[in-house]
Amino acid sequence: MILRTPPWRNWGRTESVRPVRMERPATVGAVRRAVLAAAGAGLRVKAVGTGHSFTGIALAPGVQLDLHDLALAGGAGGEARIAVDAETGRVTVAAGLSLHRLTRLLAGHGLALTNLGDIDTQTVAGAISTGTHGTGGRFRGLASQVVALTLVVGDGTVLRVSETENAELLPAARLGLGALGIITEVTLQCVPSFVLHAVRKTENLDDVLETYLQRSASSDHFEFFWFPHTPFTLTKTNTRRAAAAPGARTARLPRWVDDELLANGLYRAVCDLGTAIPALVPPLARASARATGNREFTDASARVFATSRTVRFRELEYALPRDRVPDAVRAVRALIDARGWRISFPIEVRCAAADDLWLSPASGRDTGYVSVHRYVREDPEAYFRAVEQIMLEHGGRPHWGKLHYQGADVLRGRYPRFNDFLDVRDRLDPERRFTNSYLERVLGP
Ligand SMILES: Cc1cc2nc3c(=O)[nH]c(=O)nc-3n(C[C@H](O)[C@H](O)[C@H](O)COP(=O)(O)OP(=O)(O)OC[C@H]3O[C@@H](n4cnc5c(N)ncnc54)[C@H](O)[C@@H]3O)c2cc1C
Repeated sequence: MILRTPPWRNWGRTESVRPVRMERPATVGAVRRAVLAAAGAGLRVKAVGTGHSFTGIALAPGVQLDLHDLALAGGAGGEARIAVDAETGRVTVAAGLSLHRLTRLLAGHGLALTNLGDIDTQTVAGAISTGTHGTGGRFRGLASQVVALTLVVGDGTVLRVSETENAELLPAARLGLGALGIITEVTLQCVPSFVLHAVRKTENLDDVLETYLQRSASSDHFEFFWFPHTPFTLTKTNTRRAAAAPGARTARLPRWVDDELLANGLYRAVCDLGTAIPALVPPLARASARATGNREFTDASARVFATSRTVRFRELEYALPRDRVPDAVRAVRALIDARGWRISFPIEVRCAAADDLWLSPASGRDTGYVSVHRYVREDPEAYFRAVEQIMLEHGGRPHWGKLHYQGADVLRGRYPRFNDFLDVRDRLDPERRFTNSYLERVLGP
């Protein structure tokens, strides 16, 4: 009798696969054995995080490795493994640990991640492998916080990569698209715990675009959401403060408004109504924009950075040279007007400092991120392809974990160190044990 594995689906319901085999190794030795056994059977092998990538980057039709048990001492149900160097603020964790669990553990040691994205359900390895980022003109994505990692490469070797061991591999391995091996352990440079003072305002889009460059540079963490079909944006400005500052934390209610009411409840209603009756989208967007602004609160950094997302959507996001963002957003507004689409999800605009990771969308340039979303029940393709064209014309690079339609031919020209990354891939995975159809598309065979 042939026992079939259950099908695997990603969060955005854009990808699914029924792997030949699924394994949950609880030790590095078991990861190594799984990689060698897959090779022996002629199968490809991939680790999967929480499936929050919208692209097929995590698809594992051969052997799928789930590393959650490796993150816990004694396997499933155990305590998370964590090693803290209190002097340097460097923290080593298993690659499959969730960001949510990590930030709670760090808080217990008086530490925090320096920046985070919109959610914290992803695994550490999944987040760094696709270039997951938050916002902040002087701050970089999660992969830039990695100072060392351990991975099992194509021939089963366990390789340590750090400033002192195989250091030449660091700019590739910290953001490696899952193409270089199975990451088992990650060391992150953390910072002392801090709180964020959050200010939310409803503002006019034209005014925000005029001041975007200056506000991205002068605020710690600035971003905005523009509500299509309206002149309104919701701006979010978060300012870092020491955790021990007097009055550091304020009431929970405004944060609950951010988390539950706005990010979920209100959007679900708007999306459902807008899908049923598209003509309602513009008035609903105006009502949402008015309901969301003008609040202030202060809380622990991780609780302000990340919210929960229960309304399922699809997303495309591009990283642009930051000074191109205002014109690109104006072009998206003109596109939506010209095509007559009814877009119920706001357009999110963030920023990040230049980094030095070879395949980071923010590599070598101060960056602005523009992302567009569509509700899970709507077909995103026509909208996403048209927005992508605008982003490409403005020098954009796609987020590796979000929907896009580009391949290696175009991407090679967007990344000065693309070929250097491919050389590392040839060295660590010459037989392409870790590839899949998405990686073949974006990196080549
Ligand atoms: C609701 C939602 C909100 C989001 N918000 C943001 C945001 O604010 N900012 C942002 O930048 N992105 C955001 N994303 C995208 C998300 O952060 C990335 O797609 C991230 O990669 C997902 O992590 P994951 O653990 O689910 O990894 P998966 O999607 O499961 O895998 C991603 C990649 O990592 C590889 N991988 C996983 N584990 C390992 C391992 N141990 N070794 C080697 N490779 C491994 C996989 O093979 C795959 O290539 C969001 C996505 C969703 C659905």
